[in-house]
Parts: sequence; C-alpha cells; structure tokens
Amino acid sequence: MTEVAEQFTEEQSGETARITHWIDGAPVEGTSGRSGPVFNPATGLQSAAVDLASPEEVDAAVQAAKRAFETWRTMSLSRRTEIFFRIRELVHDHSDDLARLLTLEHGKVFSDAKGEVARGLEVIEFCCGIAQLIKGEHSEQASTGVDVYSIRQPLGVVGGITPFNFPAMVPMWMWAPAIACGNTFVLKPSEKDPSASMLTAELLKEAGLPDGVFNVVHGDKVAVDAVLEHPDIAAVSFVGSTPIARYVYETGTKNGKRVQALGGAKNHMIVLPDADIAMAADAAVSAGYGSAGERCMAVSMLVAVGHAADELVGAIKERLPNVKVGDGMNPDSEMGPLVTREHRDKVASYIEKGAEEGATIVTDGRDSGPDGNGFFLGVTLMDDVKPEMDVYKDEIFGPVLGVTRVETYDQAVKLVNDNPYGNGVAIFTRDGGVARQFQFDVKAGMVGVNVPIPVPVAYYSFGGWKNSLFGDLHIYGPEGIQFYTRGKVVTSRWPDPATSKVDLGFPQTR
Ligand code: NAD
Repeated sequence: MTEVAEQFTEEQSGETARITHWIDGAPVEGTSGRSGPVFNPATGLQSAAVDLASPEEVDAAVQAAKRAFETWRTMSLSRRTEIFFRIRELVHDHSDDLARLLTLEHGKVFSDAKGEVARGLEVIEFCCGIAQLIKGEHSEQASTGVDVYSIRQPLGVVGGITPFNFPAMVPMWMWAPAIACGNTFVLKPSEKDPSASMLTAELLKEAGLPDGVFNVVHGDKVAVDAVLEHPDIAAVSFVGSTPIARYVYETGTKNGKRVQALGGAKNHMIVLPDADIAMAADAAVSAGYGSAGERCMAVSMLVAVGHAADELVGAIKERLPNVKVGDGMNPDSEMGPLVTREHRDKVASYIEKGAEEGATIVTDGRDSGPDGNGFFLGVTLMDDVKPEMDVYKDEIFGPVLGVTRVETYDQAVKLVNDNPYGNGVAIFTRDGGVARQFQFDVKAGMVGVNVPIPVPVAYYSFGGWKNSLFGDLHIYGPEGIQFYTRGKVVTSRWPDPATSKVDLGFPQTR
C-alpha cells in the first residue's frame, strides 16, 4: 500500500490526516502555518487538513524543478519513453487507489472516478509516443549544400493549476505532455481534493522519474499568485472557472509567461424534432446528472426544437426517479454528493431562483437525496427556461438540467452562438445534412453529433471557444505538445573549404 493510501485508511478510523507538499521527490511539511479542511462529501466530515503554501514554499518547488530541468532536458528520448511506459503501468495498476481517493474527497461515484483515471491514462499513453510527437522537419538541399531543419525544445519549469472536479485527470492532461516534452513541473491542485496528486507523485517517483521533475504545492490564491509571478516559471496551464481563468491569463501573460487558461461552460444539447427521443432522454440524464453535474462538459441546457419538447421533458421526467443518489463508495449509487456544503447550498439556491424567475420546476432535487450530513442534492429538471434568466446565464455546476423551447433549428443555433461560453455542444438528430451544417455553423470548441459529452480522445486536443478558453492552444494532444515546446530552425552548411569565399550579399536560396 502506498503512503497516501495508508494515510486514508487511518483517516477512515477517525484520525484527521495532514496532506503535505511534494518537493524534490519527497513529502515536505508546510511551514506557512496555514491549512485548509478537506471533507468526505458523502459524510460531511472533515477527513484531512491540507497545507497551504506560502510564496517561499512555491519558490522551493520551483527551484527544485529548475535544478532538475538541467538534467531532465538532456535525457534521451528513448529513456524518457521507457519511464513513461513505467508510469503508464503504475497508474494503471493503481487505478482503484486513485479512484478511491477521488470518491472520498470529490464525492463522485467510484465507477465514474475509475472513468476519470482511465481518460487521464489515455493522455499518458499518448505521451508514450513522445519520440514521434516531438519530431521536427528536415529539408535537404534548401540551397546548394545547405540543409534546413526544425526542432522543438522544452520551455523549462512549467506550472499547472487545476480545479476540484477532475483531481486526477486534469493534472494528467498537463504534467504528462509537459514532462514528456522535457519540462519540469510544479502542480498546484485544487485544495478541495488534493490527495490524488500526492499519490500521483509517489507513483511517478516509483516509475523512476528523477526527483524535482514533478512537484506539488497545495494552496489557494497565495500559491496561485506566487506561480503566476515567479520569474523562473516559463508557462502556466490552468483549468477552472472563467473569472479565475481570465485572471490567470492576464496575470501570467503580464509576467511574460505562455498561458493556456481553460474556463467554465454552459453546454447546450439541441434536440431536433426528428431525433430518437428515448435516446436523447437517456443521453440528457447521463450527461446532465453524471458526477452530479460537476463536469465542465456536463450538459446543462437542453434546447428542444418544435414538437420535440413535450415528449423530451416527459421522457426525462420519467427517468429521474430511477437515478440512485448516495455515497459514491456504494456500488449501487449512480450520483454522489456535491463537493462542499457551500457549493450544494449555492446550487440549491438556483432552484429557488429559477422558480422566482418563472421557470417550471418539473422535478425538484431539494425533495430527494439521502438523509444525513453529506452534501447531497437530488436531481432537478427545470422547463421553460429563458435566455434572460440567471439560471440560464450562470454556470450552476450541479445536478440541475434546464430546458429551453424554441421553434426552429436557426433559433437553437443562435442561442448557442450568442452564449458567452463555447466549450461543448451537442445535437441530436437523424438528419446527417443538418448535423453537418451544425458542426460547420456552431461556435464552440467541441461538438457532439448524437454524443452528449464530446470530450476529444487523447490524440486530438481539448478546449473551448469564447469565455471557455483564454490563450491560443488547446490542452493535451498535438496542441499540448506545441504548448509545452518552442521551435527552433537550424540552417546548416558543411562547405567544401575549397569553395569558400567572402560574400557580403543577403543569403539567397537560388
Ligand atoms: P476555480 O476557478 O474556483 O478553481 C480552480 C483553481 O484556481 C484551483 O486550484 C483554485 O485553488 C484556484 N483559485 C480559486 N480561486 C482563486 C483566486 N481567487 N485566485 C487565484 N486562484 C484561485 O474552479 P473550481 O471550482 O475548482 O472548478 C470548477 C470550474 O472549473 C467550473 O467552472 C468548470 O467549468 C471549470 N472546469 C473547466 C474545464 C475545462 O476544460 N474548460 C474542466 C474542468 C473544470
């Protein structure tokens, strides 16, 4: 059993664990004197206290990463590949341990937590092909006796700042490509569910990753600002809510860093009258309430076109009493609690607000959910939601599905395109021509055709448009490799000394 897994076994027996930083290949106790509580959302009990880093502690992690970069950047591609294959095996072998930590701190059900680890693992597997991914191009005889070739090199120390809703997968989206490309990494995970990062650190060490290549500092705004302002950090990847994404992008770029900052979402699923309504209802329930709606790709707004609306709302309503809400470690549970009491209460307040604004509450989640002190909320379905309502405009990030009724396809697309977010979107239809027109017209980064959660596979890249992404490059996949490297072009000649002469003219290629 790993140290983190052991710590959790102790916790379950009543002791509150301390979660430390991980710097230069070892756990390091925080010295800032500040810590934050970590809860088991299913019981409502505090399970641990996480150290919150000071700028000096962030600096210690950056210095360790800076030292490690000097040797890591020189390590051969074949050796790096070998380490990545070992990382892949260890993460795979410890999927259950990671998933268990996710369920105990985030609340998502264990099967969903395993799905999270599996999708993260796909990114690690993609990175096992780093030798192929980082290849440059070569032009022989660009000029007489002159060859030109391009290479991609790592940036140095890079930082990652991640949200609470995917505590294992989103960090993997960052550290795996960053490290594979030859960078060293400082991760600042969400302080709400920090343990998965610590287990990851242990596994990376066990896989043979040199000390200092991967570091974890826990913390809040103080640690984030220290990362954004640190002169030795070359680039920052961020995933979280839109206001913080915008702040991270502006502050990071002002400090000379390359930044990709992925923000929040309001994902629409359009259901056309010709769609298979039973299939669309199944998809809406799965994508709306899976992980209690705490997914950046969760469907939160259904746009029902024409006569699809009544049938769709009826079909969803029929399915809702069957959604089993409970402790994520119970194999019967399909939906767990929300991450904190405050977040649960905030989501519940939107149900009240929706009713005040004139939406029809078809199913009220406040009426269901298990008893006890866990942060549970049942599933809510709201019909007749209008674009001017707060429940439409805001990212609620909970098990609340809204339905907007429109008459035409054009009105549905306009709703999506006018929305300030542009993360994921889906259309349900049997008409291939309309679906093709939709993917051509729609302003969003990830599009599903009869697929409600179109998270791209690891060999494409993930990212939204508009307020869902600040920066130019999407995360993981080919754009991830581009983000974590910079290009160099070499023009080379090995002249025959016999033909050498002085020529002050501008170099010509002909
Ligand atoms: P958040 O923005 O509150 O926190 C994200 C990170 O920023 C955390 O590490 C947190 O410690 C830090 N942070 C929080 N407040 C800060 C502040 N004032 N200054 C500096 N740093 C701060 O997000 P969250 O609640 O952890 O996660 C949920 C959000 O993330 C949702 O909006 C969701 O849509 C979004 N998200 C987006 C994607 C995507 O790919 N676009 C993926 C997952 C989650």
